[in-house]
Amino acid sequence: MKTILTIPLAFVLFVTSSCQNSNTLNTPKNQKIMDTEKVVKTEEQWKKELSPEAYHVLREKGTEAPYKGEYTDNFKKGKYVCAGCGTELFTSESKFESHCGWPAFDKDLGGDRVTRKSDHTFGMTRVEILCAKCGGHLGHVFEDGPTQTGERYCVNSISIKFIPEEKK
Ligand SMILES: [Zn+2]
Repeated sequence: MKTILTIPLAFVLFVTSSCQNSNTLNTPKNQKIMDTEKVVKTEEQWKKELSPEAYHVLREKGTEAPYKGEYTDNFKKGKYVCAGCGTELFTSESKFESHCGWPAFDKDLGGDRVTRKSDHTFGMTRVEILCAKCGGHLGHVFEDGPTQTGERYCVNSISIKFIPEEKK
């Protein structure tokens, strides 16, 4: 029974690490595959827990104004967690200056933390990104990234929370 359970995890770890080999110099050791348990709350509960601005972006798929978000110009070392449920989503290593007015990342932490969904609102075809655990709206992902991954995750600052790396 134990073997059956460990095989898929080993496979996922292998795939994840082999995709990122070229760019893993400082990848945190605590990178984990997220557990599949979802965070389910009523809209009333979310309203109570989140600020009105965060509620609008995370739960109503709003977009914060460009260049106004807290983390657009934050290039300190650390990680970014979901503002709705605390799931680790990105690290400062994958963040880059996109000049688009929102924080940009070239990849997420993997392990199915980020869900992608087709978005046809506002007459555009885009790919929406959401926190897989709580369903919170993060932003969109575009295929015009300047780095190796070719992707640009355009994320609302209010959808994420920065946790600075601890000084040793
Ligand atoms: Zn979340």
